[in-house]
Amino acid sequence: MGNPRIDLRSDTVTRPTAGMRAAMMSAELGDDVMGDDPTVIALQERVADLLGHEAALLMPSGTMSNQIAIHVHCRPGDEILCEVGNHIHRYEQGGAAQLSGTTVQPIAGCHGIVRLEQLVDMVHPDNPHLTRTRMVALENTHNYGGGTVYPYDELERICDWAQNQGLIRHLDGARLFNAVVASGISAAQWSSHFDSVSICMSKGLGCPIGSVLVGPRDFIRQALRSRKLFGGGMRQAGILAAAMNYALDHHIERLAEDHANAQRLADTIAALHGLELRSPEVETNLVFFHVAPALGTAAEFCARLREHGVGMMPMGKQMVRAVIHLDVSDSATLEACAILERVVEEARRGTPSAAAAASAYDG
Ligand SMILES: *Cc1c(COP(=O)(O)O)cnc(C)c1O
Repeated sequence: MGNPRIDLRSDTVTRPTAGMRAAMMSAELGDDVMGDDPTVIALQERVADLLGHEAALLMPSGTMSNQIAIHVHCRPGDEILCEVGNHIHRYEQGGAAQLSGTTVQPIAGCHGIVRLEQLVDMVHPDNPHLTRTRMVALENTHNYGGGTVYPYDELERICDWAQNQGLIRHLDGARLFNAVVASGISAAQWSSHFDSVSICMSKGLGCPIGSVLVGPRDFIRQALRSRKLFGGGMRQAGILAAAMNYALDHHIERLAEDHANAQRLADTIAALHGLELRSPEVETNLVFFHVAPALGTAAEFCARLREHGVGMMPMGKQMVRAVIHLDVSDSATLEACAILERVVEEARRGTPSAAAAASAYDG
């Protein structure tokens, strides 16, 4: 069927802009496994500065950034505390166990947000029956929570407490810049509360590939070893770093447009019979909503949308996710809203649609 004309399945679907491609084409390159790609070196220094940490390391994916952070911070028998919907727990194949011999203690939050009071009793005492509680991992914005911006004061309380407990604090900041733009709180301010932070460049920032992990210099030195172990060493990676550098210049502030368009889409959904926003508040670029069974399953509803050229992602039997990003203009958003109205009407009348294919989660 090809790509949907208006593709709201994920913010990972963005294609590099002409300006980004030009930046990639003219990048000065070296061999980054040998440590001499000047564009990678400059990009890593820039991201470390931007996030207020000592050092940074380019990674092929956000998953690898998170898993290497776990691998460096934790030993087998350690335990990580995180919200049940965190990417680290829900969407990384149990990598903490597979790759690092650690367990995750998942905690049910509200739209991805856990409160300090939920964590305090989860820390194990030193007892041979129990795992060693080692790390607290937060996610900002929270993907499965609905693009939620972590309430800053709560995050600060949790991180101060974790530090006093001697726990490592890791932030999955795949969409940290969405949180920055939505909150007005700088990336360095958010990141100051953590020992390590991962960010994704291939989501809302529009790069084709990549992620960056930041932390103390010695942590990054060990992460470099683990990256080689995990097969993530890349050679002329400056071609990717050039795209990232371009994205940091041109694609951060414009995230506000994505948030405004997500709000437009949410307003349309709120007004439609049979659709219900999962959370009345849409804070950033992700919109989750429930489809009434009378309109079919989420997969069937998404298949109908797809026939009209709009891609959305079924995320549960009756739940759908729509994501606004760089490749969705104001007018495409309005068109998607109009198609949504038409498809709800069509589904209500029970007009047959082509066979619905369940689509797998992808980012
Ligand atoms: C997409 C995502 C990741 C993983 O990024 P990949 O580059 O797809 O591996 C990690 N955390 C969150 C919250 C994400 O949304």
